[in-house]
Amino acid sequence: MSGIRVLVAGASIAGPALAHWLHRRGAEVTVVERAPGLRPGGQAVDARGVAKEVIRRMGLDAAVRAACTDTAGAYTVDVDGNVLETFRADDHGGDGYIAEIEILRGDLSRVLYDDTRDSVEYVFGDRIAELTRDADGVDVTFAGGARRRFDLVIGADGLHSALRAMVFGPRERFVRHLGLVLAFYSVPNEFGVDRWLIDYQESGRSAGLRPLPDATRAMAMLSFSAADFDVDHRDVAAQKRLLRERMAGFGWLTPRILDHLDDTPDFYLDQVAQVVMDRWSSGRVGLLGDAAFSSSPMSGGGTGLALVGAYLLAGELAAAGWDPEAGLAGYEARMRPFVEANQEIGRMHVQSREAPAPDAEPSPEPDMEALMELVERAINGVELPDYAEVPDSGGPVGSPITSSVTP
Ligand SMILES: Cc1cc2nc3c(=O)[nH]c(=O)nc-3n(C[C@H](O)[C@H](O)[C@H](O)COP(=O)(O)OP(=O)(O)OC[C@H]3O[C@@H](n4cnc5c(N)ncnc54)[C@H](O)[C@@H]3O)c2cc1C
Repeated sequence: MSGIRVLVAGASIAGPALAHWLHRRGAEVTVVERAPGLRPGGQAVDARGVAKEVIRRMGLDAAVRAACTDTAGAYTVDVDGNVLETFRADDHGGDGYIAEIEILRGDLSRVLYDDTRDSVEYVFGDRIAELTRDADGVDVTFAGGARRRFDLVIGADGLHSALRAMVFGPRERFVRHLGLVLAFYSVPNEFGVDRWLIDYQESGRSAGLRPLPDATRAMAMLSFSAADFDVDHRDVAAQKRLLRERMAGFGWLTPRILDHLDDTPDFYLDQVAQVVMDRWSSGRVGLLGDAAFSSSPMSGGGTGLALVGAYLLAGELAAAGWDPEAGLAGYEARMRPFVEANQEIGRMHVQSREAPAPDAEPSPEPDMEALMELVERAINGVELPDYAEVPDSGGPVGSPITSSVTP
């Protein structure tokens, strides 16, 4: 044991993945999650390229694959439902638009939690209320009243991170809205959705349906451009009104999908946003995952960033002998170009859905070579050291996963 005590805020993807690696490197880990239990739900998230290698090094390849969705691919359609383009899950070595490792966020969170629950302390239904930092540690007061001291505190508490606001500054300074609003909710599968995702796009709006593990239902996905989004993220009735308004007159199956807005048991709507920060650490406090560098759901890379970041953060800290400054600086130096590539993909994807202005010049043909080079950097553009010199209480399982993007 290094005797190092680390507090991690957030038990979704980044938090439990970091807990796994910190424990393996010899730290004592506590994870505090604001929700009363592990949060179920969420859309499908993907792991491509190096993120798959991290899953393998965690020994979780079989568990993750067993919990994957069974999506065969996606196709785009015109307003009458005629197929325009097809993307298969096994395209590009499984690292394409629909990834071979596609898993519901809640299911991945469950796999990561089950893997760490016996070696890590989880505290649900609580949060950090106050932090006092000195040269040797951090005193934490929890909202539930407990007071404890840690050597390091890491925020893996998502896009709306409270720890980031407490230590680095207000949300507005770091969260960038990309001008697109996304909504998801489940509907009865009266549309005959099978193993394929269907997507219809036109003039800055889109509607789609994707399969769910419960084949009697399908997930509706709607999006519209909106620079002026100002609906409270807790006011669901106002969000549904806004969605009806903005999707009015949109073709394909949209009216029938909207008919289920009032009988859906689940509903999510939010601005597509990224987090952009100059630094992801300050003294003994660091950030990981969406809290530090959300790339937005439109990048398809947020979960991969969280998994890879967890591996590097724990590895760099241990390799630096748990010196916070050196360890956190090493993590940041390795991760930043990888994060930037994924954020660029997210922004480009949003732009590609924007409606052209009526008097706009036709956009130039994309430079496919540059685009494929960017995609490759977003999937594989970070080195994973083996950290052979630092303690490891668990070994990798299975043979290496190779992955490549075919331009
Ligand atoms: C319920 C839910 C649904 C999601 N659905 C999708 C989706 O459909 N598509 C998609 O691409 N991405 C989705 N995401 C985001 C996706 O999980 C992340 O982009 C990515 O996996 C990185 O995860 P993360 O662990 O950094 O952040 P998140 O997954 O956002 O997790 C943050 C965790 O921190 C907890 N938390 C928040 N504040 C505090 C606090 N003050 N103290 C302690 N804990 C706190 C949250 O409850 C949550 O469990 C969803 C996240 C959640 C929580």
